[in-house]
Amino acid sequence: MLCLRKGGNMLEISFLATELAFSAIWLFARLSKWKRQQRIDWKQEAVLLLMYVNLAVIIRFVFFPRDLVDGHVQPLVFEATAIFPLRINLVPLVHLFDYDSFRDVIWNVVGNTVMFIPSGILLPIVYRQLSSFWKVVAAGALISLCTEILQLPFPSRASDIDDLILNMLGVVAGYGIYAAFKNLSDNSRFAGIKTNKNLMRDTTLKKYTAPIIMLAVFETIAVTLWVTKDNIFYFFNFSYIGCSIALGILLFIRKHKYARRIVQLLVGLYMLIYLGLICGENMQIEGFWYYLFTGVFEAATIHYAVAKIFGPLIFGRGWCGYACWTAMVLDFLPYKVPVQPRKKLGWIRYVTFVVSLIFVASLFLAHVGNLERIMFWAFIVGNVVYYAVGIILACVYKDNRAFCKYICPVTVFLKPMSYYALVRVTCDKEKCVSCGKCKSICPMNVDVTDNSRKRENGTECILCMECVRNCPKSAL
Ligand code: SF4
Ligand code: SF4
Ligand code: SF4
Repeated sequence: MLCLRKGGNMLEISFLATELAFSAIWLFARLSKWKRQQRIDWKQEAVLLLMYVNLAVIIRFVFFPRDLVDGHVQPLVFEATAIFPLRINLVPLVHLFDYDSFRDVIWNVVGNTVMFIPSGILLPIVYRQLSSFWKVVAAGALISLCTEILQLPFPSRASDIDDLILNMLGVVAGYGIYAAFKNLSDNSRFAGIKTNKNLMRDTTLKKYTAPIIMLAVFETIAVTLWVTKDNIFYFFNFSYIGCSIALGILLFIRKHKYARRIVQLLVGLYMLIYLGLICGENMQIEGFWYYLFTGVFEAATIHYAVAKIFGPLIFGRGWCGYACWTAMVLDFLPYKVPVQPRKKLGWIRYVTFVVSLIFVASLFLAHVGNLERIMFWAFIVGNVVYYAVGIILACVYKDNRAFCKYICPVTVFLKPMSYYALVRVTCDKEKCVSCGKCKSICPMNVDVTDNSRKRENGTECILCMECVRNCPKSAL
């Protein structure tokens, strides 16, 4: 481990060095396993990635000071002469409120609990031997106990039975979530053979891989941003969005008619009302330009990076199908399937894109004051205009998604990135009977029977799955 030696008996262990060492050990363990097995189980690796992130977070917050200094995590100090007397509290709950402020008490209680919730969920998934509540609790207690014991030699840390209790509460809550999902899947009408328990377990696990992977991706983003930016908001924000999307996929698998609409409302309303109107974050494209010009990697820039620029490389235009608050309203209109041929109006999106850029750039060039306030009002006015134009276009062209096809400036990012999307609908040519139903029902006029990336309107697919749902031959 890289350490900076200061004096004869003192060591400063940096956070970066610790995480690098942990990552190296983890990678070595995974590589050894892959070599032994001669294959990689990507689904298992996705769950293990979450476990890795969870342990990395536990290391970060258990061993290193929470507050950053000059944007850096402060090192862990080891001093041989200061090991004794050991700083240890074995009396439960008496020191729970011994903190400088109420905020610190909350941080301690919530942090110690929340940090271990993923362990309660992941342990029974990763290790099938941990099949009962008590085994998971015992495994969680062991992890917590190890972290408390490992803190003993460090004078800046203290081992506390309260931490152990709070950690266990987190594990129990996590196991509760796991058990609820498992119960849901075991009771599924579509779970297949019910008499063979092992087969049913394999079938249901396979069926629920997609929501688990989606949750894993969002939790990885949530935790990475929380740790790197030392702001727990990111954890709650991306966890909420990840859970909403995973729930939507789960409902879709269970053939719930309104699965996509439920996710749209959960995410769209949260972003529009909570983030936009209550928190005052402009998540429109103007907000993206604004944060970009100020050089701050916050709110809209993070949102664009995840949902609209790099995210589409994985989930294409999933944003447009499941999260956009503009489409959330437009999808309530009656013109779900376009009846007229597509118009050649796509060039308008480049105009709106440039106009939004010029608008924000001119505010900066003119040194206009109180930009945050202007951005807040730009968000409100912008949304009103989007809704008005979207509804008018939908009625004129008898097409709910006309705004998305011709006007939306965000598609300038979305279209090229989603060309390379990992997640896309493909057609099994052997099953397809060329009935044309999929194309006729597609709200975005995608020729989904063509598997090439250059298929007609291929970068417009919003993954709504209407084609999959309606294909008479289950070819999609
Ligand atoms: S194209 Fe634009 S308006 Fe339409 S769903 Fe996507 S981001 Fe929303
Ligand atoms: S609906 Fe199914 S069978 Fe019909 S053209 Fe599309 S993929 Fe082929
Ligand atoms: S109907 Fe199919 S091809 Fe069309 S947008 Fe929805 S998922 Fe994509």
